[in-house]
Amino acid sequence: MSDLVNSIRERYESTLDKISSSAKKAGRNPDSVKLVVVTKSQPIETVRAAIEAGAKILGENYAEEGVTKIQSLRDFSAVEWHMIGHVQSRKAQLVAEHFNFNHSLDSVKLAKRLDRFCGEAKRTLPVLLEFNVGGEESKSGWQAFDESRWSELLTDVNEVMTLPNLQIRGLMTMPPIGDDAEFSRPFFQKLKRLQEFLAKQYPQVDFSELSMGTSLDYEVAVEEGATFVRVGTAIVGERRYV
Ligand SMILES: *Cc1c(COP(=O)(O)O)cnc(C)c1O
Repeated sequence: MSDLVNSIRERYESTLDKISSSAKKAGRNPDSVKLVVVTKSQPIETVRAAIEAGAKILGENYAEEGVTKIQSLRDFSAVEWHMIGHVQSRKAQLVAEHFNFNHSLDSVKLAKRLDRFCGEAKRTLPVLLEFNVGGEESKSGWQAFDESRWSELLTDVNEVMTLPNLQIRGLMTMPPIGDDAEFSRPFFQKLKRLQEFLAKQYPQVDFSELSMGTSLDYEVAVEEGATFVRVGTAIVGERRYV
């Protein structure tokens, strides 16, 4: 085993251990949390090393970069590729054809394009609805800061629900960046409340997945109910430009 694989394995396993402790602390089953190893802006050797170190789900932010990696690493057929970054309209086809999961569905317009391309490719794409619970202008996701206005989200959610080739599986958020992990806790709690709100409105839809938490705050996210955490630098190191 190369040094790169060994060092990634050590950090990957220690991340799994921390996820497990946080889950137990919160009275949750550790198996209910899935670890997405975020490999955006990492060279292909690092992504390969992450897979050899045990990563089962890889997270990418840019469609073209992700597709290049998916194609180069297709021998590892058991690995899942999740799109976690904002998808531009003109990249919808790449995502629909190549990725296994989209955490970052953030508009009806994108949903319709993904649905159309999935239909043409005869695929179904599981998606998470991305919500901006922190209220920052610059963030993607449906604006969901103001809880008193959550019912205004229902028209869009309803439209996404009707698309035959997309399968709603839950919610995702990327909170504002604070000084420490505790800063994120109220935002994770808010996403959890939004999940409960939507599940109550639409009992026939599966909103069970919550994708929240990065290197900085994944332990807090697990305490607050995350079922996917998206961890990059803590496992594969600082990003490089590829
Ligand atoms: C980059 C990124 C991550 C991972 O961030 P790290 O700080 O490297 O753990 C998680 N989620 C999204 C949406 C990202 O863009």
